Amino acid sequence: MYTFLIRYRQYCTHIPLSLWTHYDFEKDDRMPVNASTNYAVAPEVHALPIAGSSDLFAVRRIYCVGRNYLDHIREMKEADERDPPFFFQKPADALVQNRASIPYPDDTQDFQYEIELVVAIGAQGRKVSVAKALDLVFGYGVGLDMTRRDRQRDARDRRLPWEMGKSFDGSAPCTAIVPVAKSGHPDRGAITLHVNGVEKQRGDLSELIWKVPEIIANLSMQYELRPGDLIFTGTPAGVGPLVPGDRIVGEIAGFEQLHLHITEPRA
Ligand code: MN
Repeated sequence: MYTFLIRYRQYCTHIPLSLWTHYDFEKDDRMPVNASTNYAVAPEVHALPIAGSSDLFAVRRIYCVGRNYLDHIREMKEADERDPPFFFQKPADALVQNRASIPYPDDTQDFQYEIELVVAIGAQGRKVSVAKALDLVFGYGVGLDMTRRDRQRDARDRRLPWEMGKSFDGSAPCTAIVPVAKSGHPDRGAITLHVNGVEKQRGDLSELIWKVPEIIANLSMQYELRPGDLIFTGTPAGVGPLVPGDRIVGEIAGFEQLHLHITEPRA
């Protein structure tokens, strides 16, 4: 056994000794880096503006809640209305800045919009109570959970994961984050989406089945939440398909509008 460890240690010469010998999940050891670290592949930072500030909100993870407005559950006809909340993720590099153009994505014939309130997490939390959940919130924004609906339905029918339908490039447009000090904790107010000036979605934040504190508390039972996490909180009814040339305007009362332009697919 000792010989094996020595050999393995020699094999792992690229890993600093301290990590190899003392890795401790509770202490949150990471690969040590500093300003003079050289990378063969450099880390990418994905960030959103913060309203009223020149600082950026660096995004760590993007979580999304499925089926959180009753009328949307009814239009999708695929879940029980009393189901507990469930979550999926998008990669942080799926973020799209407000007022961007994105190409109609690859691998779909049914690209759809979903307007959602986005919660930006600003503090660490694990197994957080509903009563303390809002303490984790940095602010709020307006986002689109862009969806390849045909790929999502394929996955559902074949009992496969949702990634291909939900977690693709450019699938997470979001506005600047408004700090809680300015936004408060919105729990009512119109949430709407227009395509080419025609209203497609209309709901009210008060219709969320699982409220923001419940979403945070529930998610924190499954993952340790950290500063930089975003949570897309679900969409009201009226989801539908897009075509190249479409111009989307998403709005939640009290927040800046989210604009997105769909262009021709990439070659
Ligand atoms: Mn959604």
